[in-house]
Amino acid sequence: MAAFPTQAETVIIGGGIIGCSVAYHLAGLGHRDVVLLERAQLTSGSTHHAAGLVGQLRGSANITQLLKYSVELYDTLEAETGQATGWKMNGGLRLACNAERMTEIARQATTAHSFGLEMHLLGPAEARDLWPIMDISDVVGAAFLPTDGQVNPADITQALVKGARARGVRIIEDCPVTAIDVVAGRVAGVETPHGKIACDAVANCGGQWAREVGVLAGVVVPVTSVQHQYLITEPIEGVSRGLPTLRDPDRLVYFKEEVGGLVMGGYEPNPLPWAVDGIPEGFHFTLLDSDWDQFAPLMEQALARVPALETAGIKDLINGPEAFTPDGNFILGEAPEVRNFFVGAGFNAFGIASGGGAGRALAEWIVGGEAPMDLWPVDIRRFGSHHADPDWVRARSHELYGKHYTIAWPFEEHESARPVRTSALYDRLKSQGACFGEKMAWERPNWFAPDGVAAVDIYSFGRQNWFDPVGAEHRAVREAVGLFDQSSFAKFVVAGPDAEAALSWICAGDVAKPPGRMTYTQMLNHRGGIECDLTVSRFADDQFYIVSGTGFRTHDFAWIRDHIGDLLDARIEDVTDAHGTLSLMGPRARDVLSRVTDADVSDAAFPFAHCRDIAVAGATVRALRVTYVGELGWELHFPIEHAGPIYDAVMAAGAADGIANTGYRAIESLRLEKGYRAWAADIGPDYTPQEAGLGWAVKTKSNIPFLGREALAERAAAPQTKRLACFTIDDPAVVLLGRETIYRDGERVGWLSSAGWGYAVAKNIGYGYVRNEAGVTRDYLESGTYELEVAAHRVPCQIHFEPLYDPGMKRIKC
Ligand SMILES: Cc1cc2nc3c(=O)[nH]c(=O)nc-3n(C[C@H](O)[C@H](O)[C@H](O)COP(=O)(O)OP(=O)(O)OC[C@H]3O[C@@H](n4cnc5c(N)ncnc54)[C@H](O)[C@@H]3O)c2cc1C
Repeated sequence: MAAFPTQAETVIIGGGIIGCSVAYHLAGLGHRDVVLLERAQLTSGSTHHAAGLVGQLRGSANITQLLKYSVELYDTLEAETGQATGWKMNGGLRLACNAERMTEIARQATTAHSFGLEMHLLGPAEARDLWPIMDISDVVGAAFLPTDGQVNPADITQALVKGARARGVRIIEDCPVTAIDVVAGRVAGVETPHGKIACDAVANCGGQWAREVGVLAGVVVPVTSVQHQYLITEPIEGVSRGLPTLRDPDRLVYFKEEVGGLVMGGYEPNPLPWAVDGIPEGFHFTLLDSDWDQFAPLMEQALARVPALETAGIKDLINGPEAFTPDGNFILGEAPEVRNFFVGAGFNAFGIASGGGAGRALAEWIVGGEAPMDLWPVDIRRFGSHHADPDWVRARSHELYGKHYTIAWPFEEHESARPVRTSALYDRLKSQGACFGEKMAWERPNWFAPDGVAAVDIYSFGRQNWFDPVGAEHRAVREAVGLFDQSSFAKFVVAGPDAEAALSWICAGDVAKPPGRMTYTQMLNHRGGIECDLTVSRFADDQFYIVSGTGFRTHDFAWIRDHIGDLLDARIEDVTDAHGTLSLMGPRARDVLSRVTDADVSDAAFPFAHCRDIAVAGATVRALRVTYVGELGWELHFPIEHAGPIYDAVMAAGAADGIANTGYRAIESLRLEKGYRAWAADIGPDYTPQEAGLGWAVKTKSNIPFLGREALAERAAAPQTKRLACFTIDDPAVVLLGRETIYRDGERVGWLSSAGWGYAVAKNIGYGYVRNEAGVTRDYLESGTYELEVAAHRVPCQIHFEPLYDPGMKRIKC
């Protein structure tokens, strides 16, 4: 037997499908000095007991692409490795049993088309033709995705192992990692009972053990173990080998064919946790006791769909634990706490489907040092400090598990594990009708219910109950003034003698301006894509104040910290929790502000894109003259203990002007009208500022070097293959939500990245990239005729090149 290795480029922890896929792909990228350590035997974790359904469609284009790649890989892996995989592309059928579910699957079909997947809507009888043994008496319709399939999970993993070994990866079983060495914030090696391995990078692919493995390195991996059951039957007459997988979300169950019988599982609303006090020693190739009481309600639903189950012989009721996460998405990427410590875990019962794509993406991330594409929905930097609390993670993950098959309503908020973080103004706003939403555990006012209206969302696929109240808030901001509590904004201070040099390198915009100036800027990755989108305000020669979106706090902090050069004397501090923020926006904002401060807030003394310390209600307030809603206004940042008095003073001063409490849903419609981009929707790591129409914010005309500059120059030399454009539909009966397909002259050219209703312009507004490999010029855009596919119907639309509202910025610079 070969000697135990003492050194490796990368050590992978975990020999489930994810670890093995990372190994296979790392080796494929030429990274051969790879060791995979498995504490017991390969596939002995969740992988061995998975049902093996492989679906592809997700809400994000790139995550869908990862799953699509899994299918392509599974299609060829047997031929490549000689290892049987049980893969078959038998298609996936999804049923709808009521009108709203039908709308949901029609919208899913449109999303599939947007992302380049074939998906057909079927009538009940057509669905039964594909799945003859089901009862369709309650079926309204169905959707069929022909390239979905199923696989044997252990076999596909062994095929990846074979491929990885053939490419030089060393795989060692019965070798638990017991400690992880971290030196100066960077991973240095792992320890096992057989010895230490020094390494440059570690990939934690520990499945439901990933939280414990993370702890060894001081990294938070918010996964929790949940029991998941499925039934296996003896052969049933009429079940053919080619039977598609079937998802019946209204009955909470799924089916697949197996050796002439059925596998049937489901997602109960009251999931059972497992191993709350830690996973027992020796848990491998182990199943939990079947829990028939827990499974009975699902069984009842399944019997109504497939009456033949009544008489079918039952082989087994499998109960296996699996790692679930608090948002239903898996976890990928470099941990913000430790450099070169990567995580690929928390696969929420779709790890087999994700295995190929997630493994490839993580391998590329390890080799390239940056996410290979926009992977924000699964990026480990989407989490915050509350994710370190296992109770919080469990409560929210159970909610997500229970909602796996319930209708995913537009604008749906989570209910569990709230409230956790409340702004200092929470009680004041609540008493005035605030209906709160939650982001990064912050309670934020989404909208304000007028007197006599309950402050609760009533969900539907049409206009929801908050539509009119938000319209009133929108108009208040356009016509008078509104006050937004944006205390959840991520806020950082970058300080030190080299702060300017550091930020000049990290920011694409010119931030090297004198104190008192504020800059809206992007931060770019090595591909020229937009990693961060934020404002940088200079308050002193050696001090910059940075404001970014609530959800991007961990990501942006890590990005800035990691790109301040080692030789520079500058540091970043997160001051989010110390500062409250109120945004005063609207044509009367100056009148109101001047009543609560002695500072001169005239346009001459305090112009747009400037920042000043001003006194308000006994506090020193950092005032930033900026807007995300397209009106005259200021963001007021202040020590958190002053929040109440400042809010009261501003509201009292604005009473005569009709000042309104305003919330996040109004921000969304206001910014859509003005054409302001939203990171993680309209802009992100896959889009350059030029493609996003933000080229004006980049210092390309200067000769100052900045991260991403060379990539932008390279890309500028080639035709621009995508460009963000604005689309509108006048008919208020159409509801745009995002991900609708864009057609140009009848050809699919993209999808909407964000959308909503603009109350002042009285139109549906959508933003989306038009794509064309030969180039997207203004002429190309102008010469097309456009339609949007909305819930599987095509609707004519107009394209626009200027903001719909105040293109001349007259309302802002006044
Ligand atoms: C009942 C059930 C049905 C499912 N059905 C499907 C399905 O139909 N389709 C689908 O796509 N997915 C399904 N899944 C989900 C799928 O099984 C998982 O998402 C997937 O197997 C996760 O793979 P993994 O590699 O992340 O984790 P695992 O397979 O659990 O692998 C993690 C490995 O890490 C090892 N490890 C842990 N700690 C250490 C350490 N310290 N040192 C070394 N090694 C360590 C463990 O021993 C384990 O082998 C199902 C899951 C369950 C429970």
